[in-house]
Amino acid sequence: MFKLKIKEMKCLSLFVFSLLLFSCTQKSNQLSAQKTDSNIDKVVKSDAEWKKELNDLEYKVLRKAGTERAHTGDLLNNKADGIYICRGCQLPLFDSKTKYKSGTGWPSYYEPINETNVAEDTDYHLGYARTEVHCARCDGHLGHVFEDGPQPTGLRYCINSVSLDFVEREKK
Ligand SMILES: [Zn+2]
Repeated sequence: MFKLKIKEMKCLSLFVFSLLLFSCTQKSNQLSAQKTDSNIDKVVKSDAEWKKELNDLEYKVLRKAGTERAHTGDLLNNKADGIYICRGCQLPLFDSKTKYKSGTGWPSYYEPINETNVAEDTDYHLGYARTEVHCARCDGHLGHVFEDGPQPTGLRYCINSVSLDFVEREKK
């Protein structure tokens, strides 16, 4: 009788142990899935909401893929040290260290702040293919990227000033 009980207990503990083991592996699987998932949580708003938050030009450029007039942007000649963020959702997009004077009349950068925040698409608005760039979080239109930029990338991110805001870097 006693022996049977021990056997039963052994069986039970084995069962509990395997349950624990199973739940542990489940958890670590979930964690690794989160780690490898670099998708950004999207900011999704209705047209009416964007219209309320943005002024006419910001709305036209960010939400309708418009273009500000050359040489009119308030950040075109900004030489301060800091980060350029999305005017629609504040996601960091470009570092001032990669900004350069292109002479085009729009703020220009040779690379985005990272590979995930600035997304690309192809547009044919002018009748030929151009690579459009937009904010990966709110899909706000930023500008275009061309292959006539300076080294080290050879790229020119031609960005509407009105799509951006600037945050000065804290001095250490
Ligand atoms: Zn954004």
